Amino acid sequence: SSRFLDVPQAPPDAILGISEAFKADTSPDKMNLGVGAYRTEEGKPLVLGAVREAERRVLADPTENKEYLNMGGIPEFCKLAAALAFGKGSAALQEGRNATIQCLSGTGSLRVGGEFLSSFYPGPKLVLIPTPSWANHKAIFKRCGMQTQEYRYYKPETRGLDYEGMLEDIRAAPDGAVLLLHACAHNPTGVDPTPEQWKGILEVTQSKKLLPFFDSAYQGFASGDLDRDGASLRMFADTGMEMLLAQSFAKNMGLYGERVGALSVVVGDAAAAKKVESQLKITARQMYSNPPRHGASIATRILGDPALMDQWKQELKGMADRIHTMRQGLYDALQEVGAPGDWTHILKQIGMFSFTGLTRPQVENMTNKWHVYMTFDGRISMAGLSSGKCKYLAEAIKDSVE
Ligand code: PMP
Repeated sequence: SSRFLDVPQAPPDAILGISEAFKADTSPDKMNLGVGAYRTEEGKPLVLGAVREAERRVLADPTENKEYLNMGGIPEFCKLAAALAFGKGSAALQEGRNATIQCLSGTGSLRVGGEFLSSFYPGPKLVLIPTPSWANHKAIFKRCGMQTQEYRYYKPETRGLDYEGMLEDIRAAPDGAVLLLHACAHNPTGVDPTPEQWKGILEVTQSKKLLPFFDSAYQGFASGDLDRDGASLRMFADTGMEMLLAQSFAKNMGLYGERVGALSVVVGDAAAAKKVESQLKITARQMYSNPPRHGASIATRILGDPALMDQWKQELKGMADRIHTMRQGLYDALQEVGAPGDWTHILKQIGMFSFTGLTRPQVENMTNKWHVYMTFDGRISMAGLSSGKCKYLAEAIKDSVE
């Protein structure tokens, strides 16, 4: 007997469930394109050379220890992470208008940000979220007691951005609402606004006094260039507007399980930033007390050392380039096998994922007949593909759409 027998069974996580099914599949042809983690050409997880070296230095440093960090994490890490996102010359940073704390990767940063807004945001406690978005966005903000509302983002007919629909929905939302934006490499669609479209989004954000909350999980992973991938949020920050940023080092440093990230709240006044920071720390204190030190120590050493920084940038570009090569490889293979339809979106989409346009029954055929594991919305992780497998994947797609 148990007093918890009436606890309802939670539904399996859409993505982690796919990995389980993949593991159980004994076919030699099986491919896991579900999970969003980088794989080498050999299909193996990658620990970056810059990370290995930084870790070696951390372990060899006699002044390092295992004491608790402060609630806000490693101060140097926070400074370097904010500069990486906003740019070294950022006025907000120079004027001390940012409160930045180390959090548990991107998810933890979003959660602490959501908790902070839920307690202290004087505007509408409503977060506008794109359709579709990373599934956890809505769940995280709901758990914080915030309302959520969707805005149009992806247009299936064009497999591109529904720019008009997006602006229309944002304009129709209450003034002052929180606007969640993917800084680059939108997950799951791989569709980003152009710089011109970002300007339009910025204008509506300003005229509606919305509070942008950027989710930056792929800086450097999209284009291979850290500054280029930070351009959207810098465009917003450089106007002097108040905003939030959840930053993850899971993908770009490959520090997934080390849980390295940062939350920045940029405000209009340095005195307000101090108060905000004090509340972010209390929020952390009550949720997990303080963040883990190992991964952030590694990231700090990379971000603070010009040689390691150069090495990281090169390795990051290497990952972005391999993904780009896989896009071309899959596109070429689709042409070669004669898959019907237009597949140029595979080349145009940005970042780790491709939104193939496959329907749910087509995805079921991919998995059941071809042992290709992917999410039911038709998303595949390009980082899970290798040159030798493009042809097989193209055959599977051809068979599924015909
Ligand atoms: N935001 C987006 C858009 C993501 O794709 C992810 C990772 N899948 C995250 C946030 C959070 O990842 P993590 O907590 O591992 O940094």
